[in-house]
Amino acid sequence: MSRTPIDGTVLVVNAGSSSLKYQVLDPVTEEVIADGLAERIGESASRIKHWYRGHDVEVEETLADHEAAIARVLALFAADGVDVADSGLAAVGHRVVHGGRSFFEPTLIDDVVRSEIERICPLAPLHNPANLVGIDAVSALLPDVPAVAVFDTAFFHDLPDAAATYALDAAVAEEYAVRRYGFHGTSHEYVSRRAAEFLGRDYADVDQIVLHLGNGASMSAVAGGRPVDTTMGMTPLEGLVMGTRTGDIDAGIVFQLARVGGMSVDEIDTLVNKRSGLKGLCGENDFRAILERVEAGDAAARLAYDVYLHRLRRYIGAYLIELGGADAIVFTAGVGENAAAVRADSLAGLEKFGIEIDAERNAVRSSESRVISTESSEVTVLVVPTNEELAIARQAVAVAGSTSQAG
Ligand code: AMP
Repeated sequence: MSRTPIDGTVLVVNAGSSSLKYQVLDPVTEEVIADGLAERIGESASRIKHWYRGHDVEVEETLADHEAAIARVLALFAADGVDVADSGLAAVGHRVVHGGRSFFEPTLIDDVVRSEIERICPLAPLHNPANLVGIDAVSALLPDVPAVAVFDTAFFHDLPDAAATYALDAAVAEEYAVRRYGFHGTSHEYVSRRAAEFLGRDYADVDQIVLHLGNGASMSAVAGGRPVDTTMGMTPLEGLVMGTRTGDIDAGIVFQLARVGGMSVDEIDTLVNKRSGLKGLCGENDFRAILERVEAGDAAARLAYDVYLHRLRRYIGAYLIELGGADAIVFTAGVGENAAAVRADSLAGLEKFGIEIDAERNAVRSSESRVISTESSEVTVLVVPTNEELAIARQAVAVAGSTSQAG
């Protein structure tokens, strides 16, 4: 077969309950060949935004389910002369949010693995069922392409017991697999490795704090390449204030809302995951808009920003102590890569701890990795753009490649 435009590339899929994000990229050259998002799947006005080699297509029509969405995406490729099923695609990499206690390596999906991902769905009822729907839909349409699950919890599977254990009745915790798993692991690993590379140092020699600040947000402490703590816990709800999630709250609030407010568990789940965080405090979770409102003197946006910063700084302090001092502090994701004010404010006044931001460097806008601390800062502060799709593609192709050689 002659080489096709997607020969040797990887289709990366991130399926949500009513959405499906995808990218086709070359894991070696890092070239992105196609990128898209199907939204409102299962509703009457579904939409696909599809980008292929420099041109955009937008489709609005009813997509009954994920399989229909993927079939439509494959038809968009076909319109450009690409038969995805027969084009030498090396692998499909699926982002799977929760690996439970079973999975901590990228794993080739077969019937047994699929059943195990299904078995751990109760640990991540908001995420894993949707990931599985994505897996089933793609494998129905691309049955001959190896499918690999890459787990968001994997990087943190070996957290020290003291960091991973909740002080809950031990038998109850054991029965229900209650422990801190951590999430955004693909990003934390990718960014921390890139940071070490960028500094020209061995991964194993760098103690770093990674701040993944996007709509979802988490922080990790990575000691010599080994994560020793992270802010997300059994679910992605714990830790930092996020776009729509509370982050840490007193669990007693849940009892109060149920007993006094008469709210159901599902209502509280929606409240703390979808209607809280920055959005709950000021009605907005787009950080750009919040920063503009703060500038304009809006009190609700100011409080939201202050609560967000207070939580960030609390964890920066905690992780500096846990690591016994850091070599690097690394910002990534939408807010971390773009919001200079958040970077400056989260590390302001920490000169006594050897942390000094350079205002001019911090103000530079760039999509490249860069240092934003002063020459004399003992701790190097960096911005390192994350690329979860690339990380998933590389892991997927490594697993698919080694399996096909073995077989
Ligand atoms: P992510 O989840 O990584 O895509 O990040 C999304 C968040 O990044 C949203 O809250 C955006 O408002 C925020 N963001 C993106 N660009 C900027 C920017 N230039 N300044 C501030 N926040 C931004």
